[in-house]
Amino acid sequence: MKDTKLFVVLPCYNEEEVLGETSKRLLELYGKMISEGTVSPESKIVFVDDGSRDRTWEIISGLCEQNNIYRGVKLAHNAGHQNALLGGLMTVKDECDCAVSIDADLQDDINVIPEMVKKFDNGCDVVYGVRSERKTDSFFKRTTAQGFYKFMAMMGVDVVYNHADYRLMSRRALNDLESFKEVNLFLRGLVPLIGYKSDSVYYERAERFAGESKYPLKKMLSFAFDGITSFSVKPIKVLWSMGLIVCVAAVIAAIYTLVSKFFGYTSDGWASLMCSIWFLGGVQLVSIGIIGEYIGKIYKESKARPRYIIEEYKKEANN
Ligand code: UDP
Ligand code: MG
Repeated sequence: MKDTKLFVVLPCYNEEEVLGETSKRLLELYGKMISEGTVSPESKIVFVDDGSRDRTWEIISGLCEQNNIYRGVKLAHNAGHQNALLGGLMTVKDECDCAVSIDADLQDDINVIPEMVKKFDNGCDVVYGVRSERKTDSFFKRTTAQGFYKFMAMMGVDVVYNHADYRLMSRRALNDLESFKEVNLFLRGLVPLIGYKSDSVYYERAERFAGESKYPLKKMLSFAFDGITSFSVKPIKVLWSMGLIVCVAAVIAAIYTLVSKFFGYTSDGWASLMCSIWFLGGVQLVSIGIIGEYIGKIYKESKARPRYIIEEYKKEANN
């Protein structure tokens, strides 16, 4: 009999439609894993309510009262998926041997959890859940996601291709995660930085069980942009090279104009003038925007506000 204490942590934002099914399926899986001796009977399922406005917390509280295997962490306000996940993991890390983070909507296949635990038992500190295919995602989401992972790699950020936030982490890795204090949290980029031995398990991503995605296009793009600018200063370096290229081109154009003038070829010059003004204006605006994004991040980091605030923690002793 193994005594690996496994905690599964699920961030939930307005997930009243899925919680019943998710808790049921996880409970079944835990029953199987405990009886087979894969994990200790003291393992837990932890729901983190990320300031939901529907009945999410009510349902979580109900589950905690029904069965000691469930726990609930209620955040005081909507801190966002990444912060909610971190809040849950940090709340339980001292009690578990390893923790698996997974979305509440059953899109990630919970049946690979035993395989993750096996890899942990064999000495891995981090086990990534990787989508082996994304058939259920729309063509748009698939291609933008692919572009994102490629762009991250180009920018020199070490991210695991097709891995989101479904992963197992050992207590040791969780303790190290705590020492990363950044407010602009992008766990997918942070976890590989911790190091330690890691491995992956593969699964097919399903459709959302019920309810709607909490990541509409705008939020998804801003998350991707945050990921890039939180981990790489390459965009600023690219601006520098772009500026240089534009300057060289401008010098060549100036020489050409002067020579033309010298030899008496006259033109009204309006088109070229307008083109360069527009082009340079555009480059400057984009550059200022990107630099502004970094300054904004520095501003947020310098305030060092808490990333999440826990309002209530329901665990078995409280019941
Ligand atoms: N989530 C959260 N806080 C938020 C937004 C989302 O805790 O502000 C949770 C959500 O309940 C879900 C997970 O994060 O468990 C992933 O969100 P979703 O499934 O909507 O994203 P998608 O899979 O569509 O990218
Ligand atoms: Mg989802």
